[in-house]
Amino acid sequence: VKNDGKNAWLYYNPVMQANIIQRVSFEQSLRDALFNDEFSLHYQPIVSAREGKVCGFEALLRWQSSNYGVVPPMTFIPIAEECGLIIPIGNWVLKNACQFALRLLEKGYKDFFVAVNISVKQLKHPDFVANVRELLAEAGLPASYLELEITETVLMDAIEDNVKKLLELKELGIKLALDDFGTGYSSLTYLKQLPIEVLKIDKSFVADLTDCEKTVGMIESIIQLSHRLGIQVVAEGVETSEQQLSLQGYDCDMTQGYLTCRPVPDSDVFVFLEKKSRP
Ligand code: C2E
Ligand code: CA
Ligand code: CA
Ligand code: CA
Repeated sequence: VKNDGKNAWLYYNPVMQANIIQRVSFEQSLRDALFNDEFSLHYQPIVSAREGKVCGFEALLRWQSSNYGVVPPMTFIPIAEECGLIIPIGNWVLKNACQFALRLLEKGYKDFFVAVNISVKQLKHPDFVANVRELLAEAGLPASYLELEITETVLMDAIEDNVKKLLELKELGIKLALDDFGTGYSSLTYLKQLPIEVLKIDKSFVADLTDCEKTVGMIESIIQLSHRLGIQVVAEGVETSEQQLSLQGYDCDMTQGYLTCRPVPDSDVFVFLEKKSRP
């Protein structure tokens, strides 16, 4: 726990004191998780909206803690970001996602990408681009198999610095996706500033799709504008065939969600792919 003056008062508040102790032990568990091999990655297929053909996979981090049981990423990622652990954890994720891509290549799959979520703290780290370049070189994985997903809120501040970094990543041959589009303060004008290939419509929009006319209008406009900018669109959180059909109708490129497949361990991905390729 940082004692940076601003938070010093916390130490004199007995209730907060207890929280700090809890927080310290949580962080310690998170620190140990890397060494104790408690992390794993699940993968969720991203498919073409029309044919349901597999286009790629999103890597999603899972933590099975010996102290806390299964901890959802929404709980531990923000803490990992605050205490700096997101850097080693994020590198672990990248490395393992690259290994997964290599296994797919070994099995003869060629047209796919593996998408990895990147936190703003990682992107802002001065060594990030060099790290990614090294990881790809060590793995011997062509950069085109890797997609990095970045949320828009992340990019809003210091946009010029961030765009510069994104351009460096793009130069390596990596694909970039704007995640959770529609949450936060998305601005459409700001889309043209970002060197992205893919835009992911947030699942809260998709959930509203079948009972809100305004949402339909927004999704249609986002897709049309994206296409005019040469950006492909993925809809997240597609749970029903009704949603899938509407999205096809709006010319959405790809979908991802429980309807097609839940996030699964890599062994199940191979089972999923074999089932798909069978007539
Ligand atoms: P996200 O990037 O928006 O990931 C999509 C989330 O939606 C995942 O939650 C996924 O399991 C869930 N999902 C997929 N299909 C459906 C569906 O049909 N319906 C619903 N309701 N949900 C669906 P998950 O795995 O709990 O991850 C939550 C968030 O944690 C992610 O949101 C991402 O922001 C973050 N995260 C996960 N793994 C990583 C990682 O390796 N690094 C970083 N920095 N963040 C990560
Ligand atoms: Ca994501
Ligand atoms: Ca998302
Ligand atoms: Ca999200």
